[in-house]
Amino acid sequence: MKLGLVIDLDVCVGCHACATACKEWNGESLMAGGAPDYDPQGAEPSGVWFNRVRHYEVGDYPANKTLNVPMSCMHCEDADCVTVCPTGASYKRAEDGIVLIDPEKCMGCNYCAWACPYGARELDRNEGVMRKCTLCVDRIYDQALPIAERQPACVLACPSHARHFGDFDDPASAVSTMSRERDGQPLFEKLGYRPVNRYLPPREPAQVPAPTDLAPRGSLQSKLAAMVNRLIQL
Ligand code: SF4
Ligand code: SF4
Ligand code: SF4
Repeated sequence: MKLGLVIDLDVCVGCHACATACKEWNGESLMAGGAPDYDPQGAEPSGVWFNRVRHYEVGDYPANKTLNVPMSCMHCEDADCVTVCPTGASYKRAEDGIVLIDPEKCMGCNYCAWACPYGARELDRNEGVMRKCTLCVDRIYDQALPIAERQPACVLACPSHARHFGDFDDPASAVSTMSRERDGQPLFEKLGYRPVNRYLPPREPAQVPAPTDLAPRGSLQSKLAAMVNRLIQL
């Protein structure tokens, strides 16, 4: 198996529900080990996040657009975060491809975080141990949960269904099919880490008939159509 995520950049609205659901689940998770906050009510709050949503402004005004890009561990097939680890704490599972950290072996040296080009690893300063996305390994195999809930917390929380989880080794899985049909892309492919997660690029704006085809110029209908066309270009 090759488990991973598909993230649809066309429908991600940048709401951060995935990031907060991740933090909520993994804050209590024995497998992930926790995601602490530092000085959360203070002047400079910070903390460990396994999933961070980055926002970019692309294009030139008036055809500019905000692109929201959630990023977590890509569970790379050639992961330098594993090979640089001096203690063997960082490892990739043969059975499903999930990259994990053994907290008993981790000495918090930070080598793996420096080796990760995706910023996917963050040091737990309280425990002196590295933390990262586990694909919610303690949810996805939990036989006590209904099958529909055996998904990573971020996938379950996403209100716009921008996130999908599954097996990329199965050509008939939803993630493989979506990635094939929508030209799913890995991030920073040239770096050679062979990330598993795929990003579906934003679609071209929908083609709405020109206002003059809908109604006489100057009518309310015509003005509404012009407004719709303007909005979908943003
Ligand atoms: S995204 Fe970073 S932490 Fe995750 S497997 Fe790749 S190199 Fe390692
Ligand atoms: S921080 Fe921990 S997991 Fe990362 S390289 Fe050092 S020992 Fe290995
Ligand atoms: S929850 Fe979904 S829509 Fe919101 S930021 Fe995450 S991926 Fe995007």
